[in-house]
Amino acid sequence: MKAAIVKQFKEPLVIEESARPTPAADEVLLQIAACGVCHSDLHLAEGDWPQMMKIVKTPLILGHEVVGQIIEKGAAVTQLEIGERVGVAWIHYACGACELCLEGNENLCPKQQITGATVDGGFAELMKAKASHVIKVPAALTSEEAAPLFCAGVTVYRAIKKARIHSGQRVAIFGIGGLGHLAVQIAQSSGAQVIAIDVNDEKLAFAQALGATHCINATTEKTVQRMASLGGAHLCIVTSAAKAAYDAAFYSLRPGGAIAVVGLPAEPLTFPAIAMVGREAHIYASAVGTRQDVRDVLEMAAQGKLQCQIETRPLEQVNEIFAEMRAGKISGRMVLKL
Ligand code: NAD
Ligand code: ZN
Ligand code: ZN
Repeated sequence: MKAAIVKQFKEPLVIEESARPTPAADEVLLQIAACGVCHSDLHLAEGDWPQMMKIVKTPLILGHEVVGQIIEKGAAVTQLEIGERVGVAWIHYACGACELCLEGNENLCPKQQITGATVDGGFAELMKAKASHVIKVPAALTSEEAAPLFCAGVTVYRAIKKARIHSGQRVAIFGIGGLGHLAVQIAQSSGAQVIAIDVNDEKLAFAQALGATHCINATTEKTVQRMASLGGAHLCIVTSAAKAAYDAAFYSLRPGGAIAVVGLPAEPLTFPAIAMVGREAHIYASAVGTRQDVRDVLEMAAQGKLQCQIETRPLEQVNEIFAEMRAGKISGRMVLKL
């Protein structure tokens, strides 16, 4: 099978023939139709997260927004049929038996496997996946539309769900990229007044078209002052990988407001305790989502309440996509069409 492989971190991916994966008894083999390219794939390829690098395999096939058709299944797989269309998310496998899994937080399972990180992912023609963790794709969605929901969509869905926002509250989304443009739509459908912050005017125009009531360009405007004039945010969701976005988000909160840590800069975040306490700032993180979160976000999209803006490209262009992502030039999500 053809695959884009990380042979060495910080080097371009190598596109070449790779061995056909053989599914184990509890696995299925997918003929991949589409795989979204997430900024986390770029962080992994660049070795941005030292702690993660200890568990990442090499050589590695990236890609954790995968949709494909089951073409083979292991002897123990009874609940899925050959020909079914399913997707695979970042959480490749969770044990189902540990304290966190039993509490409904399988996204935090210490025994988890991660698609396109600890096991090979979807930048390839074929991929094996755990039958217990693939998720059926609603017929109303094309494979290309559905793929980004398996990471970008589910991540912002969970981050917003956890905030329990009320109608009319001001929600600021920092970063209107793959995750951010979906966050604008989900926050708006939760009744929030959405404020979009990015460093690119085209992305801000896109956010406005999606319903953001205010847009702030962080390179040409004073974000914190603009946010203060709007009354401050009840919730800041940072989906940018820039630490500068967190610094601005923190001071954009109204007293009692919350920051959702979603974007993953390589550097540590630093917030002064006195400023946190003075305004009783809440800081919480959100990690992708559970299988139920994925089903919920797929259903939202199937009902027409959420739409990922996509552009499809062949696998051979993955290094060009990474270059465009590094330069912040991608609007919505790039999806590899296999
Ligand atoms: P993306 O590249 O599509 O979008 C990032 C956006 O941030 C771009 O629109 C860019 O213009 C904007 N940006 C850059 N600097 C900014 C600044 N200073 N202020 C405001 N906006 C700025 O990336 P993506 O695929 O949406 O991923 C975003 C981040 O989320 C990455 O760090 C990724 O690793 C992380 N992520 C986290 C989770 C999780 O579970 N928490 C899941 C998926 C992705
Ligand atoms: Zn991702
Ligand atoms: Zn577990």
